[in-house]
Amino acid sequence: MSEAVDRAYARLSGRIAGEVRRDEPMRRHTSFRIGGPADLFVVCDTVSDLASATEVLEGEQVPWVVVGKGTNLLVADAGYRGAVLVLGSGFRRRARDGETLRAGAGAILAHVVQDAFRHGLAGMEFAVGIPGTLGGAIAMNAGSRDVWMSSVVESITLFVPGSGLEKVHGADVGWGYRTSGLDARGIIVEAEIRLAEGEPNRIRYEMERSLERRRATQPVGAPSAGSVFVNPPGMSAGRLIEQAGLKNTRLGGARVSDVHANFIVNDGGASAEDVLGLIRKIRLIVKETHGVELRPEIRFLGEFAGP
Ligand SMILES: Cc1cc2nc3c(=O)[nH]c(=O)nc-3n(C[C@H](O)[C@H](O)[C@H](O)COP(=O)(O)OP(=O)(O)OC[C@H]3O[C@@H](n4cnc5c(N)ncnc54)[C@H](O)[C@@H]3O)c2cc1C
Repeated sequence: MSEAVDRAYARLSGRIAGEVRRDEPMRRHTSFRIGGPADLFVVCDTVSDLASATEVLEGEQVPWVVVGKGTNLLVADAGYRGAVLVLGSGFRRRARDGETLRAGAGAILAHVVQDAFRHGLAGMEFAVGIPGTLGGAIAMNAGSRDVWMSSVVESITLFVPGSGLEKVHGADVGWGYRTSGLDARGIIVEAEIRLAEGEPNRIRYEMERSLERRRATQPVGAPSAGSVFVNPPGMSAGRLIEQAGLKNTRLGGARVSDVHANFIVNDGGASAEDVLGLIRKIRLIVKETHGVELRPEIRFLGEFAGP
């Protein structure tokens, strides 16, 4: 495998416009600030970079994955035996066309939210304060309790390795709660967001209200990956965890937040195994206390030792 990685590294270094790094520490690319090295870290600036990268990696049988800003990701302490692809500057362009915003999937979601506000377009207020990229938000169908990305996405352009670009209408995406079902279909490279003319003061008010609520109810300053578990139907995962008496439970450097029990925070030096151990403990105790199986919302990358 390491010879295949070496060959892929050599072939990619001369071939793509973006950057190729070897043994890149993933803690630099996750909001948890946790994660060992990815064998390869490839910044793709163009569709042609994506085509070259996926062709070379698949040819060398090196596994690969696309990552946005890593704000929903737990990367193993041993890292990832494969290539992490990220979208570079060529995928951050943003433009307005009437009531539609078109943006590259590498754009920061907060910038898209600000664009909507600046143009007096309503519909993105729910996303204020959600970190990460537009691509990550679409892949995860990110959102608030009631409004998700699926309600504003008009279309998505995917890059399908070995095939090329494919436009998918928003209505044809298999959206679900914190899933788009797009993982197996391709790499999200661009999206059209359908909004509506709005009253600027009203948009500002909704955004500020949403931010205030977030500041009051979430440990916004501490390294985390947001909500660890999805809410079971009709229930709040945070409330179940809190009622099970787990707030402030600690394992190594990882701790269940005392502000929001569905957040695990890295108090400094937490390992991925600390976080995973805490996740297992929470699931076990919530199952014993409430008879409910909690399902992780965060995504995992790499091999975990664990029991
Ligand atoms: C403090 C905090 C608050 C948060 N609040 C919320 C919230 O209110 N609501 C909410 O839904 N989430 C929330 N999150 C979670 C997270 O921010 C969102 O899920 C976000 O949309 C992930 O974006 P990302 O770019 O960081 O994706 P990543 O974490 O990098 O990736 C997430 C998944 O998307 C896939 N992916 C990323 N980019 C692409 C692409 N271009 N093509 C295909 N697949 C891709 C990855 O493979 C991975 O499976 C919060 C996180 C934090 C740290």
